[in-house]
Amino acid sequence: MKRIVATGATDIGQVRQGNEDAFLVADSIVAVADGMGGHLAGEVASAAALEPVADLDGRVFPDAQQAVDALRSAVVEANRRVLQMAEDEPTYRGMGTTLTTALVEGRRLHIAHVGDSRAYLLRDGELRQLTDDHTLVQHLIDEGQISAAQAAHHPQRSVITRAIGVGPDLEVDTLSFDLAPGDTLLLCSDGLTGVVDDETIASVLAATPDEQAAVTTLITRANEAGGPDNITVVLLRYDPDATQASAPPAVPRTVTISSRVDRDDPDWAGRIGSIGTLGHEHAVQEEPLGRRAARFTRRVVATMLGMVVLLALLGGGTWFLLSQQYFVGLDGEQVVIYRGIDASIGPVELSWVVERSTLTVTDVQAWYVPALEAGRPALDRADARRIIDSAPRTERPDPDDVARQAEPRGEDADASGGPEAAGPPA
Ligand code: MG
Repeated sequence: MKRIVATGATDIGQVRQGNEDAFLVADSIVAVADGMGGHLAGEVASAAALEPVADLDGRVFPDAQQAVDALRSAVVEANRRVLQMAEDEPTYRGMGTTLTTALVEGRRLHIAHVGDSRAYLLRDGELRQLTDDHTLVQHLIDEGQISAAQAAHHPQRSVITRAIGVGPDLEVDTLSFDLAPGDTLLLCSDGLTGVVDDETIASVLAATPDEQAAVTTLITRANEAGGPDNITVVLLRYDPDATQASAPPAVPRTVTISSRVDRDDPDWAGRIGSIGTLGHEHAVQEEPLGRRAARFTRRVVATMLGMVVLLALLGGGTWFLLSQQYFVGLDGEQVVIYRGIDASIGPVELSWVVERSTLTVTDVQAWYVPALEAGRPALDRADARRIIDSAPRTERPDPDDVARQAEPRGEDADASGGPEAAGPPA
């Protein structure tokens, strides 16, 4: 009987025209990649990113460190390839992908991760998220600007701050730990986690011993919840021989978390307390001072990350993050189309008005106004116009009058394209 059983599937979902997700299931390595970019570029990016990772399948490593190094190198190589392809082919420009991958080396599991696809571990009935989302909303949560509950419905929740294909310098999170019998590893794209909560995922995994059936059920749950994105699920179950009844302790102490080989990443070091025991956070008693220091360090790192994000947004080559983001919102009373993301870092707004409609808050149904205040995300500018066109109107005696009255404001706004456009009219 096989020690490791891995399986996976991907589904287009209910809304998207194509599937930009990709996954890999091999003997000793699994991976999920969620591609982004216009036309077919997202599919190209996610598929290309998996190639260097797939090359690791079947490799034998002298020790754990070399396995981690090889995994990290594969992710860095994936980044190099995607960047190169985008440089060679103009239609691929701006493409990118997430990449979350797990390598089995003997009894150890190594994870490398960039983006907002996730790795979870189900052990003893408890589901733990192993990876941090490299997203704007996670950054805002870390900074205390929004709550996790707000993040779940934040219009910019899909904006990622780290991805394969954005730039030559890539920071890769890695994580290593010993597998215990019965461990189930889940890798998935945000098409699952965006609409299916952790409790549901845990109950499906616990109730479905057959891996293929569990994968199918999770995808079905995401589709039942609307399937707004491509859904990819990979499962890996560790079942060593039953003769090895002398299992490792339920709460292993051998867990280590490492990041770059050349330096100790305090952000990840700070997670050892909670992830290392794979138990409840409050059950971790040791070294409270160290953990407090680690938490402080995390906050510093989060702030620094904010600055890095800001620099990245202001710098070249990062239109990836901003340019494809549109949303419909309010500028004062007026319904407008914003470009960028509905957030600020310090005093700097990350969005600006690109187009003004003839609508004001009094023209739309009252119940719809909060949605506009929150910002309604659009796929592109045309989609944003469609959102405005289909906004539920209040009954007006003569709609032409309304349009005529609003016209001058619309013309005014055509000239505005920068962040200052959100300021008061001259
Ligand atoms: Mg996705």
